[in-house]
Amino acid sequence: MADTSFNAFEMAQSQFDKVADLLNLESAARKLLREPNREYHFNIPVHMDDGHTEVFRGFRVQHNDSRGPGKGGVRFHPMETINTVRALAMWMTWKTAAVDLPLGGSKGGVVCDPHNLSQFEQEQICRGWVRQIYRELGPNLDVPAPDVMTNAQHMLWMLDEFEVLTGGHFPGFITGKPVGMGGSLGRREATGYGVIITLREMLKENDIRPSDTVASVQGFGNVAQHAIELYQQLGGRTISVSSWDQQDSTSYCFHKKEGIDLEELRSITNTYGGIDKAKAKDLGYDVLPGERWLEQEVDILIPAALENQITRENVESIHSRVKIIAEGANGPTGPVADSLIQDRGILMIPDLLANAGGVTCSYFEQVQSNMNYYWTRDEALGKLDSKMTTSYLAVSELAQQKKLYMRDAAYIIAVGRVVQASRDRGWI
Ligand code: NAD
Repeated sequence: MADTSFNAFEMAQSQFDKVADLLNLESAARKLLREPNREYHFNIPVHMDDGHTEVFRGFRVQHNDSRGPGKGGVRFHPMETINTVRALAMWMTWKTAAVDLPLGGSKGGVVCDPHNLSQFEQEQICRGWVRQIYRELGPNLDVPAPDVMTNAQHMLWMLDEFEVLTGGHFPGFITGKPVGMGGSLGRREATGYGVIITLREMLKENDIRPSDTVASVQGFGNVAQHAIELYQQLGGRTISVSSWDQQDSTSYCFHKKEGIDLEELRSITNTYGGIDKAKAKDLGYDVLPGERWLEQEVDILIPAALENQITRENVESIHSRVKIIAEGANGPTGPVADSLIQDRGILMIPDLLANAGGVTCSYFEQVQSNMNYYWTRDEALGKLDSKMTTSYLAVSELAQQKKLYMRDAAYIIAVGRVVQASRDRGWI
């Protein structure tokens, strides 16, 4: 589990400070971009199934919208904190800019554990969240989406509440909707596929064939499963994945030397990405302590679970064979670990680029919803491939030209675009 003393916002700010120095930004730009433009904290009272009333804490943070309407998911997590939401909102600003989408950065959350909530209670939380904040949201203002432990059904409840409150049909209010109800084909796969599209480009640049590589993945949720799917289609072999075990309150790593069978593992995984460890043992997987995903003898590591998973404490256990880390999760690498990874010459595809496929396809969903005209899966995934490839190449070119770490190059492009938009608007 993520360390509760870890402050993701301080990490996001220190990353920003570093780029602000590299870009030699003036003090007004630093002040504007170090803090969110706006943030909202509110209570969500819910009448629970057993008759008592529970009050959940909800958040929406709008970091910067100089380039367009805010965009960002809503997370349900028992250990959600405002600092995590602030960090994620800031990262969304950089991420939308890194792939040049005309959007800003936001994030939301509710402190709750859906594992212990009925469907009806979850619906009340979704509707309550919208009731508290809907005046500050909208297709042209700020557009929510799913994130950790929220899904298409949650988005539809939120959309329905918004439409009841505002009196109209506004499918562009939210993304991650079910296909057929305003969702985009390809959205489910988009983040994981995007990770692998950037990885494919990096392998190509380094003359490595995907079929000659082996990977270890942290997590087995939406991002991890689709990343593994496309990676395997390219010929790569995934030898371990990990997941959180709700019953044991710990994570486990599921390892098979000859490569995991994606469909087989999916069939014993719950909707939260938790793998049934007894069934995995029966299927011949070694069930190891969760942190072992990082120690595997592989070419590629894909952290795709939570923030702050590669830290100063465990970074040394990364095997000497590892050549590439592709960050599927947001903020999985702490700053100290990051500089040690850079020193070791491991190539990094940073989160703001690697996992931007999700927001890219969410943007496609917004575009389709606002037009009320929907594309085929091939059209959506084709545009995703082209956007991710172009964005990767721009970051890689800058990194090579200026001899920069890939994370710094991605940040320089992203922050530079947001600063420019803020200047053009006369904010700074
Ligand atoms: P998810 O809820 O579908 O899956 C999370 C997975 O991580 C599950 O398999 C869970 O068991 C596992 N996990 C949780 N804690 C763990 C731990 N301590 N050790 C090992 N495994 C653990 O979530 P997701 O949508 O796949 O998102 C994963 C990450 O990617 C998050 O950081 C999220 O913010 C980021 N992200 C998601 C999207 C998206 O479109 N879903 C887009 C961009 C970034």
